[in-house]
Amino acid sequence: MSRHTRSPSRNAKDAEAGFEIQSDFQRFSQRDDVFRRSWWDARIRSAKSDLFYATYREPLSNWRSTDGFTQKDYALRNAAWQVSDLFTDLKLDADRREGFNDEFTLTRGVADERIDLGTPAETAAEIKRVAKGFGADLVGITDYDERWMYVNKFSDLSLTERPQEIPAEMTNVIVTAQSMDYDLIRTVPSALSGAATGAGYSRDAMVVLSVAQYIQNLGYQAVASMNDTSLAIPFAIRAGLGEYGRHGLLITKEFGPRVRLGKIYTDLPLAHDKPIQFGVKKFCDACQKCSTACPVQAIPNGPPSTERYNQSNIKGVRKWSIDGEKCFGYWTVQNTDCSICIRVCPYNKDFSKWWLRVGRWLAGTPLRRLMLWLDGWLGYGERIDPRRWWSAQG
Ligand code: SF4
Ligand code: SF4
Repeated sequence: MSRHTRSPSRNAKDAEAGFEIQSDFQRFSQRDDVFRRSWWDARIRSAKSDLFYATYREPLSNWRSTDGFTQKDYALRNAAWQVSDLFTDLKLDADRREGFNDEFTLTRGVADERIDLGTPAETAAEIKRVAKGFGADLVGITDYDERWMYVNKFSDLSLTERPQEIPAEMTNVIVTAQSMDYDLIRTVPSALSGAATGAGYSRDAMVVLSVAQYIQNLGYQAVASMNDTSLAIPFAIRAGLGEYGRHGLLITKEFGPRVRLGKIYTDLPLAHDKPIQFGVKKFCDACQKCSTACPVQAIPNGPPSTERYNQSNIKGVRKWSIDGEKCFGYWTVQNTDCSICIRVCPYNKDFSKWWLRVGRWLAGTPLRRLMLWLDGWLGYGERIDPRRWWSAQG
């Protein structure tokens, strides 16, 4: 049976992961991603979106007098993107923006001789150890699932489509998550908070490239990828990293929604993880903090649905989906990315503190509404003044 054939166990796996796939399901095309559309679609592209992107290379000096949007804040945000930017810019001449449009190119090929790392379970344990050694905060492993792969690739540079490039032998997907800085995210909305996003991607690039090169050095194929090949969240859920939240983001047990995801596709034989549930779905049913806080009402406040706001939503999956056009529109007005829905989410906590782990446990019990009330009463999720972040340094 080819890896592209619908296996009899797929329905069971979907049920295990909480996926509700409809009969009219269609794979997503990279061209329809709202960021890709911001280059070719007149409905999205504007002078504001061009300026938004330009500020990531040239820090704005006179944007807003508000704290968090000064030249220093933009300078820090852009510096945090530096490592990711280096890789994104490396192959522009070849019509590739690696990490966002295209998977990364590894410097060295597959070793001639294969090294046996033991059983798939032993190999998986070693790969997780290695990934964490390279800086991954979370690592899970699942099987390749073509449904989540972009049906076609799209270049922001030449504005052309091309076929998906992942080799057919890649049967496993290693999913990594890098946490973003809690205190920076507390300053959202601000350009300063974008430093958490940039640093997340920069660390992501380092992790996926290093793990993929390690696998190739062992004599197996590997492809290192960030946001460039597929929808990451379904793979992350299948790999046991977390659950879907109302804001359309992955909610991990360890960092809530405050993560950036990476993927390594490989033919290295690996044992797979199972999806986890720790009460997010029921908690989100009761909580609407993200949909209430979203400044452009891009997040639904009803139950999961198959509604598509526009072509940037995948067709045929019942879930919480956001209106990417409204969301990206707000980013361009702010001249930086927005993470308000991450900041206010009750799962966005520093879970190294035991009492917050108790709160997380409470959120998964029938006392979830008490936890929700406590969260608001104690002031979690409120914005902190960016000056507090700067003055706390050193
Ligand atoms: S990132 Fe901001 S604009 Fe986008 S959905 Fe979240 S809160 Fe709304
Ligand atoms: S803010 Fe509330 S509703 Fe939104 S994702 Fe977080 S827990 Fe779910």
